Amino acid sequence: YPLVAIVGRPNVGKSTIFNRVVGDRISIVEDTPGVTRDRIYARGEWLGREFRLIDTGGIDIDDQPFMKQITEQAEIAIDEADVIIFMVSALEGLTDADERVAKILYKADKPVILAVNKVDNVEKRAEIFDFYALGFGEPFPISGAHGIGLGDMLDEVIKSFPEDTGDDDEDKIKFSFIGRPNVGKSSLVNALLGEERVIVSPIEGTTRDAIDTKFTDEDGDEFVMIDTAGIRKRGKVYENTEKYSVMRAMRAIDDSNVILMVLDAETGIRDQDKHVAGYAHEAGRAIILVVNKWDTLEKDNHTMQEFEEHIRNEFKYLDYAPIVFVSAKTHQRLDKLPALIKAVNENHKKRISSSTLNEVLLDAIATTPTPTVHGKRLRIYYGTQVAIQPPTFVIFVNDPEMMHFSYQRFLENQIRNAFDFTGTPVHLIIRERK
Ligand code: GDP
Repeated sequence: YPLVAIVGRPNVGKSTIFNRVVGDRISIVEDTPGVTRDRIYARGEWLGREFRLIDTGGIDIDDQPFMKQITEQAEIAIDEADVIIFMVSALEGLTDADERVAKILYKADKPVILAVNKVDNVEKRAEIFDFYALGFGEPFPISGAHGIGLGDMLDEVIKSFPEDTGDDDEDKIKFSFIGRPNVGKSSLVNALLGEERVIVSPIEGTTRDAIDTKFTDEDGDEFVMIDTAGIRKRGKVYENTEKYSVMRAMRAIDDSNVILMVLDAETGIRDQDKHVAGYAHEAGRAIILVVNKWDTLEKDNHTMQEFEEHIRNEFKYLDYAPIVFVSAKTHQRLDKLPALIKAVNENHKKRISSSTLNEVLLDAIATTPTPTVHGKRLRIYYGTQVAIQPPTFVIFVNDPEMMHFSYQRFLENQIRNAFDFTGTPVHLIIRERK
């Protein structure tokens, strides 16, 4: 998806516009463990074109003076975005800070759309002419407060999207390493690509700066490693901020089918690991938990098992994700990754025939009767798979209200026991059939 970044000095109304454009689409489920509502990255859509929007103003870079903050935010936009919305305000008029942002954006080899916010009434329209001086062509007058002018601005945004170069990557396995800074993502990328058994080829016609790497494993299967955070590390200040790394992770999750969630054996599990993993789970991606820096631990016969129990405890909702203990430094077990990625990818897009599924459901009901509520029994009529990636099943019942969480969990487990769904979430949708 094309990425649109909103840039501008504080108080021009970036987050108001962000919220207007994405509407209710920020769909992070509140009760996913460890997931907090993050309002800097979301999906947007205009005239049927889907895109991703970031509010760079939400990425506050600790301990940096004001001008440095907005400079870094504009740099993020230049690095990450396909299209930049440069926002200024008619209410305050042209300021030094606006000019500072403009100067950085001149370096951008990307379309920049100048939006003048807070044009709440016609009187303000005269002021917008001052902004021609910024050198980004005709300003688009908008009002976040009144929702005025957004349509024209978005028309321009989607017109500026890069040409679709035609996706021939459909049958390739798209994956990415995600995780907080310094867990070893870029080391893993380099180590994996350095393995003799993978053949790396550059991707032609990539429309954005993302560094996607195509490679072929020893079986001749093709992989695309998506936007591998850190590969182009330039030691920028913002690269170690939590919001920035969460944004990178969300974007990688969006573009991948398989997520390699990297944990650090040396520093252990932190809250930020849970946030990042929560997004991947929420997005319904296949997930592998990769414990890196395994070389740093003094080990005995129990170390691995204990570490595994610790992870299972901390990431209860990821009980389906396989765990692999690796070292980017010594390359320990890195050769296991391609096969594991393929396996969970297959499970993620597995289709189960309705007849087989219903046999499993019938067996399940026979061994463990459905719950009763006030003398009335939950009746399960039949189930059918309605989607893949992740596998999603609709189960038709007499009364969905009577489906206890625990019974639903039991059914999910029965399905998991009957078919191999290692590494993928399985969604059950309970529907009424009269
Ligand atoms: P990223 O921010 O997640 O991309 O992390 P980096 O790949 O930059 O790694 C952070 C630090 O951890 C660097 O100093 C690496 O050399 C080190 N590191 C990465 N993987 C390993 C590993 O498997 N073992 C050890 N001992 N150090 C590692």
